[in-house]
Amino acid sequence: TTQAEWSKSDQYHNSFLLPLDEALEFALKNTEKNGIPAINVSASQGAFLNLLVKTMSAKRILEVGTLGAYSSIWMAKALPEDGELISLEVNPKHAKVSTENIAHAGLSSKARIVLGPALDTFPTLSPSPPFDLVFIDADKDNNGPYFQHARKLVRSGGVIIVDNVVRNGRVADERENTTDVQGVRNLLQIVKEDKGVDATTVATVGDKGYDGFMYIFVKEGI
Ligand code: SAM
Repeated sequence: TTQAEWSKSDQYHNSFLLPLDEALEFALKNTEKNGIPAINVSASQGAFLNLLVKTMSAKRILEVGTLGAYSSIWMAKALPEDGELISLEVNPKHAKVSTENIAHAGLSSKARIVLGPALDTFPTLSPSPPFDLVFIDADKDNNGPYFQHARKLVRSGGVIIVDNVVRNGRVADERENTTDVQGVRNLLQIVKEDKGVDATTVATVGDKGYDGFMYIFVKEGI
């Protein structure tokens, strides 16, 4: 099966399930217009995050890696009036375009960007009230440390999602040794040794190729 067929399948399902959203379309177009690469989540993945926020009745969300705020908008629009999404981003241009896109979506009162390398900005975040959900989608090399920071900020019963952990099967291919692949392997080892979480990787194909995400549940009472 080819990428074109995977995209066609995503589009077919989306045509039934995902009504066109002007704010999300604007975000994609404005991001492209500013020369930022289209490495956002797919529409169906964005919708999955949106449904997760609703399912958990999440009120406080942390994102690592904003790009053009496409995934931020998907998540923030599921938040209640008093909900909050904080997104960590290192690139000032990405942060500026994201701020525009969030404003256009009418979500400025709920979503904000913290500019700087996430390893530096993580320690500035308060764990109280704790986050319900963390979505890690930045430089893959640092997946391990990002998870360790996120762990300190997420409540029991909360969820941490890490994107792009399959990478076309490259993570499981021992001939592969790029730093992004090593970052995911490091994460796998850390999660394996963490007795306070249960986790699984769900591989996906679709608009964004063959990849997958790790779903990590922070256990209660540990
Ligand atoms: N979550 C976005 C979405 O789906 O719409 C896509 C995020 S994109 C894959 C990764 C982002 O992480 C880029 O905007 C990049 O500038 C940012 N990034 C890379 N290294 C970072 C770092 N050290 N700290 C914070 N952000 C970083």
